[in-house]
Amino acid sequence: MECPHCQSQKTIKNGKHHHQDGKSIQNYLCKGCGKRFSERTGTPMSRLRTPANVVSFALKMRSEGMGIRASGRVLEKSHVSIMRWEQKLATQSQQWSPPAPAGSDITVEGDEVYTRVGENLPPHSEKGWTVTFIERKSRFWIEARAGLKNTELFAKATKTAWQWAKASQYIRWFTDGERRYAQQLWQMATVYLKSTEVSREYGHRKVWRHGLEVAIKIKGSQGHPRVEWLKPEHPYTAISDKSDVHANHNEANNSALRRRCSAYRRRQNLYAKNTEGLQRTVTVQRLVHNWVRPHVGLGKNKTPVMAIGLYHRPISMLELLSLRGFSSLTP
Ligand SMILES: [Zn+2]
Repeated sequence: MECPHCQSQKTIKNGKHHHQDGKSIQNYLCKGCGKRFSERTGTPMSRLRTPANVVSFALKMRSEGMGIRASGRVLEKSHVSIMRWEQKLATQSQQWSPPAPAGSDITVEGDEVYTRVGENLPPHSEKGWTVTFIERKSRFWIEARAGLKNTELFAKATKTAWQWAKASQYIRWFTDGERRYAQQLWQMATVYLKSTEVSREYGHRKVWRHGLEVAIKIKGSQGHPRVEWLKPEHPYTAISDKSDVHANHNEANNSALRRRCSAYRRRQNLYAKNTEGLQRTVTVQRLVHNWVRPHVGLGKNKTPVMAIGLYHRPISMLELLSLRGFSSLTP
């Protein structure tokens, strides 16, 4: 077993410890750095005494939309414990977020969903927004960033989504009318054209990277949406049909989010009253969506991770809880 501290392969078994439910956990000693660790070190199950299947049940209930107190009552666990288990998994989200396969052809959809956080506040008070990005065809959920609706929120979410997408060859980047997505992207995804690449008539010097197309769909006042391409594309980038510019699949994903995350459904709720709580719950939802729950519409028993070609089978909630991320999965 690889050392979680120094990644050395030179590790030896070093006894077991036994849990009250009878499960024994293997301990290891690393010959590389001298540190001790167990098979659970670096996983969401580390330092938990509760049996893994109970934690797994709790997170399954939560990801199907049960409230945190209701889940606690069913399992005879405190809601604080359940929040802690969710947090432990959410903390691992980086290890479960492999980038898009290099050379792929993808469509990124960006959208936002509003939630009341704490008191019943009107939307313009700028609280409880979640910026979401998905890949259209695979329904891979790239990012969900909860917070105040400000430029920083868009900047962070856009950065994550671009880091995820950039190894792809062709990227269509379609969002709703919010222009801040494109503003942030322009900082990261532009190139300067060389005079040897294009004729002088093309004019634009700074353009989107080759293969990247950026457009927004603006909801019109009379129900007539308008499509707008932003900033000049690279002269060799093909442009999509107007009818392809939308974030419809992301909107559908956001309605699923309202069904499946109680924090996004409540008019008033106690446990997601701050954005950290919202972030925790939406991150768990995102990991389950990508890895565990097959998505209807992708074909039989197919998860978004499988659809985009990052892994070959759905994984179980138990695997999500007991591994150190996707790199620990057997190929
Ligand atoms: Zn080590």
